[in-house]
Formats: sequence, C-alpha cells, structure tokens
Amino acid sequence: MKDNFGREINYLRVSLTDRCNYRCSYCMPPCGIEKKSHNDILSLEDIFTIISTFAKLGGNKVRFTGGEPLVRIGAASLIERVSSELPEIKKLCLTTNGILLPQYFDQLNRCNLSSINISIDSLDEKKYTSITGGGNLENALNGLQLAKQLAPEVKVNAVLMRGINDTEILSFAKFARDNDVKIRFIELMPFAANSTFSKYNILADEVIQNNNLTFVERINNTDYYAFDSDLKVGFIRPLSHKFCGDCNRLRLTSDGKIMPCLHNNIEVDIKPYLLNGNVEEAIINSVNIKPKAHAINLGNLQKRNMNTIGG
Ligand code: SAM
Ligand code: SF4
Repeated sequence: MKDNFGREINYLRVSLTDRCNYRCSYCMPPCGIEKKSHNDILSLEDIFTIISTFAKLGGNKVRFTGGEPLVRIGAASLIERVSSELPEIKKLCLTTNGILLPQYFDQLNRCNLSSINISIDSLDEKKYTSITGGGNLENALNGLQLAKQLAPEVKVNAVLMRGINDTEILSFAKFARDNDVKIRFIELMPFAANSTFSKYNILADEVIQNNNLTFVERINNTDYYAFDSDLKVGFIRPLSHKFCGDCNRLRLTSDGKIMPCLHNNIEVDIKPYLLNGNVEEAIINSVNIKPKAHAINLGNLQKRNMNTIGG
C-alpha cells in the first residue's frame, strides 16, 4: 500500500496491552493506569483478523509490543498463530522488557521470530531499578540471553536520558560487543501528559560529540557510530534527525485504534469496521490519512502515553 506521499506501508506495530509489569517514568503516567474493561480492548481473535487483513493488503512485517506484550494472557499463542498461519508476514518481531521470556520461552521458540528488541536503559543495577520503578537488571539480562536463542537478531534499546545513562555510552558499546547484540539509544520523546522530557531531555548529537564518535552506517532508522572498529552504538533520533520520509508503519492500539503516526493524534477506530466485516477499508483509510511528518518542534504532542501506543 502506498500512502499519499509515496511511502510503501508494509509494517504494523501491534500493541497487545497498555499494562506492564514495570513503571518506566518516560512511558507510564506517574499515577499508574486505569484498568480497561474487557469490552474496551480488542480480542486476540480481532487482532488476528486485523493482522491477516494487513497481510492481504501487502503487509509483510509485524512487531508485537505494548505496554509489556507478554503480560497479556494468550500473547505467545497469538504470535505462534501469526507465525504458522500467515506466511506473508516475513518479519515477525517482538519488543519486550524481557522479564517474562523464561515463562514463554518454549512457545516463542516455535514462532520463528526474526527479531527481538529488549529495553535495558542502564547497566547499573540501582539506576535500572529506579528507571523501571522496581525492575531487576539481572532478570532483564537473563531475558536477553534467552532472546538470543529465540531470534537471529537481538537489539537492546535504551532511552537516552541526561544525567541517567548519557555517561554509559562506552559501557553499553562494550556490552554490545561482548554479548554480540546491537545497542540503540533512542532520543527521549515528549508526550503531552508526561513531564519526564523536560527533566532528562538530551539530544543524541551532544552525546556523539562528547564521546568523539565516528559515523559508521545507517540501518533503517538507526545511525550507528563507533568509538573504534568493534565498539559501536546506534542512535535513533526522532527529534534531531526525524526519519518520517522513510516511515513505513501503522500502529494498532490495544483499544482498537489504528494510528498512522506516533506523534499525531489522528486515529481510526477499527471496532465498527470489525463489526461490519470491513477491516480492509479501515486500514486503507488509515494509510490515506497518514501525515507527511510529525510536528513535535511546533509543539504538536501526542496526548496518549507511550504505554497505550506501543513503541
Ligand atoms: N514493554 C516493552 C519494552 O519496554 O520494550 C515494549 C513497549 S515500550 C512502550 C517500547 C519502547 O518504547 C521501549 O524501547 C521504550 O523504551 C520506548 N519508549 C517508551 N517511552 C518512550 C519515550 N518517551 N521516548 C522514547 N522512547 C520511549
Ligand atoms: Fe513497561 Fe516498556 Fe513502558 Fe517500561 S517502556 S513501562 S517496560 S511498556
């Protein structure tokens, strides 16, 4: 499917839940989240229908995310179903904090996952616990080792935060080399209802300069920089180097909205289309209203928190 700006839209990010076993301050509201009723969220059957329709329309990549996708009962079964019944989906990916990977390892091992992203914002135990609101670094590192057995490509995501992990760039580069994974720092993004941004905002360029890093290559939306040939870190820079021109994705929220852009408040409610059996139309409409680019620099911020969208 082509959008109005000539971009091929073939990638769906599916948020299975807005719930999480962590409370990362940049992602969740400080007051916690209201539990949604069963009727407010899409059933796993509905989600499968939407993914299969997306595949019929030419989609070939799906990423399951959340909240924490694995806290949703049945998440691994849905992933397994997509893997076995939708051969059009060539890239099946998961973004997780890694904590529940031991519990679902056997089932996920049957899913032929192409890629797993694991969020680990600090390699310092205390900082990790503080950022995640009580998480345990050792459990996340254990999850990372399991992820390496589950998928050929594993990437560690860290949200870049001033005074928190901007001094850990070299440690992360060594960690990535020693564990044979990629590490990517994501610029902290502002959301309307979240004040973390003003406290911790730092652009990747400052970190690149401070560490004297040299540009190596761009892979998809990530720019990789190096200390030397075997010490590399990636940066995803939605704020300082926006990559909207290459955007190929739609997002599906767990409460049944298709979001054509992470930083735009337009969304298409897919529930009526599910009821009248016309999911195809909802997807095509969403592609047709996909904005050219985000406008965070003009102060146009997303009203939802990240846990309700899926990263
Ligand atoms: N629970 C899973 C996890 O933490 O990986 C998946 C969901 S989480 C919302 C997906 C990604 O979004 C994570 O890598 C997280 O760090 C990132 N994220 C959340 N809030 C963010 C923000 N304000 N700015 C940049 N990245 C953010
Ligand atoms: Fe949970 Fe992931 Fe958000 Fe952290 S970033 S609160 S682990 S959904």
